[in-house]
Amino acid sequence: MSFAFHRPDSIDAAIAVAREHGASARFLAGGTDLIIQINRRRIAPEHLISLAGLGLDTIGETGSEFVIGAMATHDAVVGHPAFQKQLKALTEASAVVGGRQVRNIATVGGNIVNASPAADLVPVLLTLDATVELRGGAGTRTLPLDRFLVERGRTERRPDEILTAVRFDKPPADSATAFLKAGRRKAMEISVICVAAHLVSDGKARIAIGAAASRTLRVPAAEAIVEKGGRAAFAEAGRIAARQMSPIDDVRASARYRRLLVAAMVERALGICADRIEGKST
Ligand SMILES: Cc1cc2nc3c(=O)[nH]c(=O)nc-3n(C[C@H](O)[C@H](O)[C@H](O)COP(=O)(O)OP(=O)(O)OC[C@H]3O[C@@H](n4cnc5c(N)ncnc54)[C@H](O)[C@@H]3O)c2cc1C
Repeated sequence: MSFAFHRPDSIDAAIAVAREHGASARFLAGGTDLIIQINRRRIAPEHLISLAGLGLDTIGETGSEFVIGAMATHDAVVGHPAFQKQLKALTEASAVVGGRQVRNIATVGGNIVNASPAADLVPVLLTLDATVELRGGAGTRTLPLDRFLVERGRTERRPDEILTAVRFDKPPADSATAFLKAGRRKAMEISVICVAAHLVSDGKARIAIGAAASRTLRVPAAEAIVEKGGRAAFAEAGRIAARQMSPIDDVRASARYRRLLVAAMVERALGICADRIEGKST
């Protein structure tokens, strides 16, 4: 393994290095996905461009939305005071990414750009209708996260674009989110299935599922039935979601078991959201 390490002092300088070296360069955030891929010889970039120290690690808010900088770590998400109530699913997802050392360095942007179908934070962000902000040689653009994700390991990002932030609207007071993860053990485990749900008391529902297809997916048909039927439709939403997934058989779980998990976890995540809205649980 041999590469040149670049430590640019501004976002523009980082983009310039990426433009100069094209496909042979990669941006480096926490490195917890990238360095493993290099070590396993899946990729062999000749240039690594550090995104540290460029001011991309803040979590902020405007009047109507939250803005999470791409370099914010999972630990920062877990500890953020604004993410303990309606947005609790964010902390529930970031809290189960790897172990303490991983969460201390691994970033939100890396979790998104790596585009693993099992990325834990991504389903939560999909249920929040999040958008991603990309900055590259051609300027800045914003894309819905749902459009940004293409399939396992592939996004709409151009090689010289830095994901600078992820944005989503502040949720109403009468709303709740929930995140559930199933794995073979409780800690340091990539999801066998993960599910996020977001309910608003006016009926709006969002459901997203990870590790059950070639990318993390929302399930509009299941959302629609919850929007019509409320709590009585939660179990049916789970069954619809399970039918729409295309999970794989692998050493960690069979496709059949994954489908059973999707059905049960969607119903449970929706139930947790409803209980949170009604004040029956925190
Ligand atoms: C032991 C271990 C356990 C793990 N457990 C989990 C888990 O339970 N759940 C889970 O979801 N993940 C897990 N991961 C994966 C990983 O920690 C997360 O996906 C993490 O969020 C990746 O962030 P990073 O900053 O380390 O990304 P990096 O490895 O630095 O980058 C990942 C990819 O994204 C690109 N990239 C990163 N940031 C940007 C940016 N801002 N703009 C453009 N491109 C960018 C990089 O070039 C690279 O291709 C685990 C990893 C390890 C090593």
